[in-house]
Amino acid sequence: MSDHLQPETLALHTGIHRSQFNEHSEAMYLTSSFVFDSAAQAAARFSGNEAGNIYSRFTNPTVTAFEERLAVLEGAEMCIATSSGMSAILACVMGLLSSGDHIVASQSLFGATVNLFNTILKRFQVETTFVSATDTSAWQAAIRPDTKLFFLETPSNPLTEISDIAALARIAKQRGILLAVDNCFCTPILQKPLELGADIVIHSATKYLDGQGRILGGAVLGNRELLMDGGIYGFLRTAGPTMSAFNAWVVLKGLETLKIRMQAHAENALKMAQWLEAQPKVQRVYYPGLTSHPQYKLAKQQQTTGGGIVTFEVKGGREAAWRVIDCARLISITANLGDAKSTLTHPATTTHARISQEARDVAGISEGMLRIAVGLESVKDLQDDLAHGLSD
Ligand SMILES: *Cc1c(COP(=O)(O)O)cnc(C)c1O
Repeated sequence: MSDHLQPETLALHTGIHRSQFNEHSEAMYLTSSFVFDSAAQAAARFSGNEAGNIYSRFTNPTVTAFEERLAVLEGAEMCIATSSGMSAILACVMGLLSSGDHIVASQSLFGATVNLFNTILKRFQVETTFVSATDTSAWQAAIRPDTKLFFLETPSNPLTEISDIAALARIAKQRGILLAVDNCFCTPILQKPLELGADIVIHSATKYLDGQGRILGGAVLGNRELLMDGGIYGFLRTAGPTMSAFNAWVVLKGLETLKIRMQAHAENALKMAQWLEAQPKVQRVYYPGLTSHPQYKLAKQQQTTGGGIVTFEVKGGREAAWRVIDCARLISITANLGDAKSTLTHPATTTHARISQEARDVAGISEGMLRIAVGLESVKDLQDDLAHGLSD
């Protein structure tokens, strides 16, 4: 597909390989294996001398269609789809790292990513040093001779801290370190980490890429050499956390509306953030699209809008925060995000409950903090819903 097309066009017209029936909507290939014309062809496929599908743990045409579409949107040479966002991160580290290697990671990462690095990878002698998402010099200072990977997500969850991707990419490149960015919150519509110098982009397709809270999925993107020779594809093909054809079909169709959805999420979120800032019961609002955000300027350079996640602190601690949740009739009480339906979470007792009080204090996650993943409802209706629990 040619380079001059805009993202919303590419999201509709990339990855189309029609069958002999000439279907308009992409076909779903629910098959575990593929048939060969002859023994010789089977041998040629297995040896790699002939391109083509063999078995859906390796490749599947529906999964390939999703991979091609997302790769074009991220500006990546290659995409490998996975069964979840976490298995994308696992494939990345299992492919690229060996025992004795070291990671420098943001201390504001998705909870399961922290657990993966801190508990599971540690058992295989891969150590991680966690540093501030926003303090670039801390990343530089944490580098050791055995450091192989920088890992971050920006904006972070739930505080929407912004890491300077271009600055960290320069430091990483100088020291021969790879930079991986979890681009789940922004999607390629709002931010393209590879253009800013990152080597790898990670996605949880579960979130905005699907956009309707239906499936689990993930993806690793980067250049072909890194993904193939770097062992990421090899890990997936061998160990098996590949994306199912059904999930690939769902998220392939999700990508078709990604741009228009991301714009609507961000528009609603900005209005919500501005409204929350004016509420007497709200102490502080965290949203990269607000001029009050400490990294508003950097966010503006790096991403096209503030995105769909707004975090705010209510006066009165946990009791007041839970009241806002329990008084909401429209907004769903669930930890997922990136859904067309708005969701409301109390991080301290849910997504971040498994980390210690001290770690929460360091990360700035207070008892009065709430995270809203702003959906596609009328923002007026959403504000009215939050107002129930923010009144006297
Ligand atoms: C949800 C999430 C993940 C994990 O994705 P799953 O699909 O749930 O495995 C990773 N990173 C971020 C930023 C997320 O929000």
